Amino acid sequence: MKHLFIVVFLFTTVQFSAQTDADNLKKIYSNSLTNGMSYQWLDHLSNQIGGRLSGSLNAEKAVRYTKIEFENLGLDKVWLQPVMVPRWVRGAPEFAYFETSPGVTTNVNICALGGSIATPVGGLKAKIVEVGTYEDIKTLGREKVEGKIVFINRPMQADLISTFDAYGGCSVERYAGAAEAAKYGAVGTIVRSLNLRLDDYPHTGSMGYGDLEVSKRIPSAAISTNDAELLSGMLALNKNLNFFFSQNCKQLKDVQSYNVIGEITGSEFPNEIIVVGGHLDSWDLGDGSHDDGAGVVQSMDVLRLLKESGITPKRTIRAVLFMNEENGLRGGRKYAEAATSKKEKHIFALESDSGGFTPRGFSFECSDAILAKVQSWRPLFKPYLIHFFEKGYSGADIGPLKDDAIVLAGLRPDSQRYFDHHHAANDTFEHVNKRELELGAASMTALIYLMDKYGTETISNDDELKD
Ligand SMILES: [Zn+2]
Repeated sequence: MKHLFIVVFLFTTVQFSAQTDADNLKKIYSNSLTNGMSYQWLDHLSNQIGGRLSGSLNAEKAVRYTKIEFENLGLDKVWLQPVMVPRWVRGAPEFAYFETSPGVTTNVNICALGGSIATPVGGLKAKIVEVGTYEDIKTLGREKVEGKIVFINRPMQADLISTFDAYGGCSVERYAGAAEAAKYGAVGTIVRSLNLRLDDYPHTGSMGYGDLEVSKRIPSAAISTNDAELLSGMLALNKNLNFFFSQNCKQLKDVQSYNVIGEITGSEFPNEIIVVGGHLDSWDLGDGSHDDGAGVVQSMDVLRLLKESGITPKRTIRAVLFMNEENGLRGGRKYAEAATSKKEKHIFALESDSGGFTPRGFSFECSDAILAKVQSWRPLFKPYLIHFFEKGYSGADIGPLKDDAIVLAGLRPDSQRYFDHHHAANDTFEHVNKRELELGAASMTALIYLMDKYGTETISNDDELKD
């Protein structure tokens, strides 16, 4: 009888708990969709401030703005974490054309890649040679490359369902193509934009010269996908085309900037920390609404939604707005460094840096046991059409926190339209849908709520089951 009583008691407790969780998720989603702040904050970041390249005045304005907004939420702690960041500036707009015969030119859309050097004053004109991949540069060798501009024309693979996989498949061309071409005597590189769509926007992004001597560095730019197709077509007809481009970007001295941090201190285990974040810096061509204004405002709203939904976290929940993800990752590294030196115990970190589109779920860097535990929460997310709980990549900014004790996760929104906008002039506010953004913020809050409530240990859970 006593035994039966315990079983009944446990059963009702579990039922009650599941019911509470379902109710709390409903509150979180309702709050986000009816009085969420994420869209309003994004409007300000995008339309009142704009692109937030590290070290720029706009980046500093964004630091000040988000700190004030955190303070307005009445959090337990709000602070700025100083970090030195690189400062690369684009300078005057780039200009480029190809020349089919003397004086007959066709303009094309390019933009300097982040970190690139400028062309010589007055621009750079040379013969152009096309390659399909990074490896092809070596195959062509010095004989065919020396003195020329190398045009790396590798389209993103269209039949991959995860467009991030397609992006990863050709990011080496953008990042390291110039350094490789320079080794064989090239004078510049033009790289096809990492965009699955055919359009006129060139997409920037970081590039690096590795250990290439300063004197051997060559300028590198991205060309729009439409113009990459056009140029490739023209080259098929005439291998002797001249290509001209001018850009006067520059790497200046590092400057002081900040990660912006807001915290709700844990009511039971204040020393166990859960991080939710995105990156506050962006590229400069658009206003960085999807990358990563969305992740920033969603992370801010996680703290607000917990409060609004009457949830008192047991553990400390920190929203971290990281500086300098795009061209240095200094903010992410600084945060992890400080966490280590203060011996802080981080149990979970969640990043949103894949755009503000309809959320589909999360990918996790964790053990099989933790994944099983997370997957057991699936029914709670079913009403919100969140179904993806798999192992996979989390996020760049939280990456440096990785160790055996922490679980890392990334929000996985639908990715089909992300690379239409990524790092381009059309990454702007009007391309973010209010409800999609709010559903993302709610999904993140829901996961944080569950992680806070049940922790990331699996042993205690097993014990519960044995009872
Ligand atoms: Zn990003």
